[in-house]
Amino acid sequence: MSTNYTTLTGQRRLKVESIRDLTDSTYVVRLEKGDFPFTAGQCVLLGLAGSAQHREYSVYSPVGAPYLEVLVKAVENGDVSNRLKTCSAGTALEVEGPVGFFTLDDADVAGAPVVFIASGTGISPFHCMIGSHPDLNYTLVHGVRTPAEAYDRECFAPERYTVCTSRDAGGDYSGRVSAYLEQAPIATDARYYLCGNAAMIDDVYDILARKGVDADNIRAEVYF
Ligand SMILES: Cc1cc2nc3c(=O)[nH]c(=O)nc-3n(C[C@H](O)[C@H](O)[C@H](O)COP(=O)(O)OP(=O)(O)OC[C@H]3O[C@@H](n4cnc5c(N)ncnc54)[C@H](O)[C@@H]3O)c2cc1C
Repeated sequence: MSTNYTTLTGQRRLKVESIRDLTDSTYVVRLEKGDFPFTAGQCVLLGLAGSAQHREYSVYSPVGAPYLEVLVKAVENGDVSNRLKTCSAGTALEVEGPVGFFTLDDADVAGAPVVFIASGTGISPFHCMIGSHPDLNYTLVHGVRTPAEAYDRECFAPERYTVCTSRDAGGDYSGRVSAYLEQAPIATDARYYLCGNAAMIDDVYDILARKGVDADNIRAEVYF
């Protein structure tokens, strides 16, 4: 029997099952899922029980998984992202949602070409989408500082996945995502989904628009 419940304010309390460290600063929080409904690409608002501080996190785990995961980077002086890291199995977290509209169209799920472009933990909604829809016709470009930040890369088909490393030569491409896209062929018939920091999204949007991608086919989720 699930132990999660919904409070009068619409918040659920879900217990932490585990914390999995991926790097010194980035980790995956796995929660009990219970009957939590969401669409791939959506977020939850997460915080410690009784705390007034809640933050948005994209759901990382596939829709069909028997648990709910988020991928979190502990940011310098960040309140929630550092406190979540100290949780242990059994800690109850407050979860609101799902929220957000950064989701796939039916045509995308049915196999229309999609290009996912992420920086850092912006890979999270794409990890969820790809795990939820195994037949997606996707290309994934991930901008990170070092190869260690290519989180759970075994979840992605190698021929569909390009890691761009900005501070280390160990990626598939050495340099920023924007530099990679400047020199890469750009499919103008694909739909583009961008997720991560605002500077990356602005740069990539300009490149795609200049290379002929219609604005209607560019969607973005800005983290900070
Ligand atoms: C729609 C949405 C979805 C998000 N999904 C995720 C997610 O899946 N995983 C995730 O780790 N974060 C995600 N974020 C960011 C997250 O909500 C928090 O802002 C982040 O965890 C910092 O919260 P904090 O309380 O620790 O820091 P705060 O005290 O709120 O902020 C500290 C500073 O950190 C900056 N910051 C925020 N996020 C980052 C980051 N990733 N890298 C570097 N600096 C950052 C902020 O701009 C701020 O200046 C998302 C944000 C939005 C708006």
